[in-house]
Amino acid sequence: MTGIVFDIVEFSVHDGPGIRTTVFLKGCPLRCSWCHNPEGISPEPQVLRSPAGERVVGKWYTPSELARLLNRQAAIFRANEGGITFSGGEPLRQARFVAAVIELLDDVHVVLDTSGYATESDFCLVASRCDLVFYDLKLIDLQLHRMYTGCDNAPILHNLRVLSTMRIPYVVRVPLIPGVTDTPENLEAIARTVSGLPGLLRVDLLPYNRAAGGKYAAAGMQFAPQYDQTRPVRLDPSAFEQLGVKVQFL
Ligand code: SF4
Repeated sequence: MTGIVFDIVEFSVHDGPGIRTTVFLKGCPLRCSWCHNPEGISPEPQVLRSPAGERVVGKWYTPSELARLLNRQAAIFRANEGGITFSGGEPLRQARFVAAVIELLDDVHVVLDTSGYATESDFCLVASRCDLVFYDLKLIDLQLHRMYTGCDNAPILHNLRVLSTMRIPYVVRVPLIPGVTDTPENLEAIARTVSGLPGLLRVDLLPYNRAAGGKYAAAGMQFAPQYDQTRPVRLDPSAFEQLGVKVQFL
């Protein structure tokens, strides 16, 4: 068995508690209009071209090769209450590979950073081996979700309910996209969806990445957001506060 990774970032402090190494798995079934990692979408290696030259992104590992690499820092992770985060792309697209890597890790804290778009069995295969889950919720309205991500949100909402029964702590993360996800209607719908769910630690509202389009040309892709990037993001946590959901801006 092999898995494909497009980046491994060490000493990350934004992808979970403590000092972490984040593994970015290549391949994602979604096509978010605002995706700032276009090289993470294709499940195949690809060439990035820039004035500085060309480089291939996407490296294949066996589970033992990747676990060996990650285990080198296990003592540092444990000393700093850090660990390893599996992100992407969508790590659940390679669920069996990620689960196999986790099985070989040397007693380190593991975070799954996911869109939740997967079969229930793939979701449980990985989430059940993790200490914490970062779970993205983008849009509750089905038509808008299809329009902006290219996919239905039914599997995402289903796996969120599954997660809430698994006794694994999780944080719901909402990327604030101007005029798309930051609307009162959407934030109120997300607040109603997560309110009262067992195991929810809090909701994180993520800032819009204004450099989202930066890597598209290098990947030979076109950045064509279906929204006005220049519009200020609406920063209003009241929909969550009114329902007693703990919320923070990142
Ligand atoms: S889920 Fe994440 S990686 Fe996948 S397209 Fe959306 S923003 Fe990009």
